[in-house]
Amino acid sequence: MKIIESILTKNPCYTAGKKITVKGLMLHSVGCPQPKAQVFVKNWNDEDYDRACVHAFIDGKTGDVYQTLPWNHRGWHSGGHANNTHIGVEMCEPSTINYTGGSNFKCSDYEDAKYIVRKTYESAVELFAFLCKKYNLDPLEKGVIISHKEGHVLGVASNHGDPEHLWKGLNMGYTMDGFRKDVKEAMGKADQEEKKEAAKTESAKVPFTIKVDKVAKNDVLNIRKEPNANAAKTGSLKWNDPNVYTIIEVKNGWGLLKSKIGWINLYYTKTVTAKTTTAATSEYYPKYTGNSYGIDTVFKAIGVPASYCGSYKNRKPIAKANGIPNYTGSQNDNLKLITYAKQGKLKRP
Ligand SMILES: [Zn+2]
Repeated sequence: MKIIESILTKNPCYTAGKKITVKGLMLHSVGCPQPKAQVFVKNWNDEDYDRACVHAFIDGKTGDVYQTLPWNHRGWHSGGHANNTHIGVEMCEPSTINYTGGSNFKCSDYEDAKYIVRKTYESAVELFAFLCKKYNLDPLEKGVIISHKEGHVLGVASNHGDPEHLWKGLNMGYTMDGFRKDVKEAMGKADQEEKKEAAKTESAKVPFTIKVDKVAKNDVLNIRKEPNANAAKTGSLKWNDPNVYTIIEVKNGWGLLKSKIGWINLYYTKTVTAKTTTAATSEYYPKYTGNSYGIDTVFKAIGVPASYCGSYKNRKPIAKANGIPNYTGSQNDNLKLITYAKQGKLKRP
């Protein structure tokens, strides 16, 4: 899942500037046959577009997430009180459906439609897992993750049928209960990865030096009084903080900063040592052994520097080194690069 920041700064909802305490996430589906998230991003970024605003659109072709509001901004997506508590995310819909009235539609190409809907579902699972972790939410707790349709039943949203109408109409077999379970499972996988990393850092000899890494764009890495996420904040480091910090003690995957201002979660850092810059490196990156097909996830896992991740432009030098001179980030080319990584044959630029 790739998050592309596209904040709708002209939309009156953005300029209203209200913040919320995030207590849940609402899943929507756009309700018109338009798979391209960028079309919505463009149309909604207008000072006259005062009807609605959501936090993100999920593209039907790529599954990319276009973040259109800061996550804790008050959105206009539910037509009810859920705007005060819930983040709203829209999944784009296939171009091969044709609405015939209300939430009824006809479909001219089921294969295409199902592909698009599966793509948005899978990205939504990843995005919701990420947001649940970010805001300490339990996806299975009542009222935390809800669809627009469920929001209406709970009395916090207007009378819409999305996105279940789409899943049902295409016989996808998806349900909101299933979605919540999938989010929970995705969180478990992410937790395991964090634990693995934590175990690695646990055995690290102190002191060692780190830099901030893996923190979402414009987000911060909190510094806390104790080595756990519930301890009081004593400061923060920016996502793009260029400085190197020294860690003098490690506990449960957290590291104590030398200044003793507090602890940071080492998952969101990378160790930097003089060695890594001078050590002889082989022609290839190490073999990728995970299951992800997210190009950046794969790259990061095998130690590709952050400067070659995050966008196709950043990845260009690597594509070039691997025989793709006119790389534009297409799925085919990405798949090629991922395949090389899986074979341990991805060349360094
Ligand atoms: Zn909706």
